[in-house]
Amino acid sequence: MDALLIGTGGESGWPQDGCTCASCMRAAATGIHRAPGRVVVDGQLTLTPGAKPRSSDGGSGHRVLDVPGGWDITGPDGSRLLAAAGPGAVPEPPDGTAPFDIALLDLLASPAQLGLLRARGLVTGQTRVAALYTDHRISSAQEMARRCALWASAAGQDGQVIATAGEATSASGPARSSRPHRTLLLGGARSGKSKEAELRLSGEPSVTYVAAGPWADDQWEGTGGEPDAEWADRVAAHRAARPAWWRTEESLDLAGALRRETGALLIDGIGTWLAAVMDQAGAWPDDAANWAPEAATADPQHLVSARIDELIEAWRQTRALVVAVTDEVGSGLVPAYPAGRIFRDQLGWLNQRLAAESDVNMLVVAGRPMILPT
Ligand SMILES: [Zn+2]
Repeated sequence: MDALLIGTGGESGWPQDGCTCASCMRAAATGIHRAPGRVVVDGQLTLTPGAKPRSSDGGSGHRVLDVPGGWDITGPDGSRLLAAAGPGAVPEPPDGTAPFDIALLDLLASPAQLGLLRARGLVTGQTRVAALYTDHRISSAQEMARRCALWASAAGQDGQVIATAGEATSASGPARSSRPHRTLLLGGARSGKSKEAELRLSGEPSVTYVAAGPWADDQWEGTGGEPDAEWADRVAAHRAARPAWWRTEESLDLAGALRRETGALLIDGIGTWLAAVMDQAGAWPDDAANWAPEAATADPQHLVSARIDELIEAWRQTRALVVAVTDEVGSGLVPAYPAGRIFRDQLGWLNQRLAAESDVNMLVVAGRPMILPT
């Protein structure tokens, strides 16, 4: 089976006629052109948004099933294709569906649909995945290519032929095993670092999300000592936004998770973990005026150092595809209180040690991830 991508753009293509948004202007300036989405399967069956695929002569031998959000197509030779019904549509084949050889999906509508299809065994290592209906929802073709590489899918381009494995012309993303397996994402508050972390793992079938504190139901209190309802709401909202099939662990045992996991692991985040580890060790200065590191009892510092060493060692040896989020705390003013200065220093050193042992380090600013030198 093969799918000729005649058009890979959204409803109005990309760039969209008359649209002056930055994405369309950028696409036009760099010669990007995607016609409105249209695909021809095996030279016979035409897929256009919103219409049931039809063969030109009505007798191509393809079986077309209507599934929620898309089309499940079986060719005369038994090969299988899943296609989104149109821009924004997310196909949801029912249980018991056989795996697909080709999947043409609107990955901008939901990258996590790919992770779910993989988790359900409907998209496998043999499946050719390509993005369809790409338009000005993404900032640039470059950004689309970057994301598709992370999701082990092809970005798709007009005129491209996606063929089942074994046929001469095929296209797919990079082998999933060849991707960097330790990524450290640094960023300030609300920089978009957590969102980038989730995006990077959207195509994964098995993701463990380790929330390294503070958690909704304990530890953190409001200014009057009462439970911090605003924080609890925030944690709940973040949790609801993550794909439902991800496993969430609330744990400070990051080293254990790194040693145990062989699938994808998202750690959010290193800063909250360090603060909690310092809490547990009693490593914060009790008396801000008199506190100095050398005056503190050796034990709390020793405990924190041991936990950090254990984390670094597990990070070095992990077999998981891991993305860890951490706070970039060094750019502001020098904190007014000793506790703030100690934390900033400790986290800065920890970030340096993790970065030195990472495959990829990125700094996220205003939702823009920048690759740092290795
Ligand atoms: Zn536009």
